[in-house]
Amino acid sequence: MNDQPRPADPAAEEDEVRRFRERLGIPGLVDVHTHFMPERVLHKVWAYFDGLGPLTGGIEWPIAYREEEDRRIARLRGFGVRAFTALLYPHKPGMAAWLNGWAADFARRTPDCLHTATLFPEEGAEACVRTALDAGARVFKAHVQVGAYDPADELLDPVWGLLAEAGAPVVIHCGSGPAPGKHTGPAPVGRVLARHPRLRLVVAHLGMPEYEDFLGLAERYGQVRLDTTMALTDFSERLAPFPRRALPRLADLGDRILLGSDFPNIPYPYAHQLHALERLGLGDGWLRAVCHDNGARLFDLP
Ligand SMILES: [Zn+2]
Repeated sequence: MNDQPRPADPAAEEDEVRRFRERLGIPGLVDVHTHFMPERVLHKVWAYFDGLGPLTGGIEWPIAYREEEDRRIARLRGFGVRAFTALLYPHKPGMAAWLNGWAADFARRTPDCLHTATLFPEEGAEACVRTALDAGARVFKAHVQVGAYDPADELLDPVWGLLAEAGAPVVIHCGSGPAPGKHTGPAPVGRVLARHPRLRLVVAHLGMPEYEDFLGLAERYGQVRLDTTMALTDFSERLAPFPRRALPRLADLGDRILLGSDFPNIPYPYAHQLHALERLGLGDGWLRAVCHDNGARLFDLP
């Protein structure tokens, strides 16, 4: 495709990200929201973006890093990402265990990837999550829009209990952006947190577009975090601008905001996410925490 947003040449882009890290004096980036999946699944996801499906809200979404897996891993390493995830998610029952098997293998052969797993409201969901935890999963992904399930579904109740007890963070796409789903928005997740107040939910995309409602959940529940994925970029600001009046709340939650990028499925170069955070003007201390320290603490990185 000719209209792909070409990232700057790799060396130039790596330089740009390195200057950002060096200026902040951080040993690397911790990116809690990156996607690695079995090739067959990833190609389906890409086809979905190409087809302007409901996942994109019908928006043109040319993927910047449509490359082979080893090349994508090398990109992240080149950016100095010292820990990242392999977020994957089922859209129907019977898939989670298979995806978790793939992710366990990926983590084994990719030491800088945090061992990631997923879940789905189905018979055996609790056992599936327990198996993943026993195998060493450190972080989970739940996708309320793609999975089209209610996170407060009673089949998930024991799952949330288990994950809360294990202290395992769950990156959850529960906001209604870029397109709403039947169960997206703050209310269903609010019901989950009312029952499991210590659950370490990481609300993806800063809760876009319901930013302020999800900030409210984080203010209310001390283990709730938010990831920055795609938020505040030019692309997202056009669709769902972050309300400027909420910036002080973003600043106050600075120890619970985590860098996320959505690499490789982004329609702009990786460095743009970093600049989108930098230009908020919340200061270098905030940036250091968000881009490295918060994630390093959450995942006990040495
Ligand atoms: Zn994502």
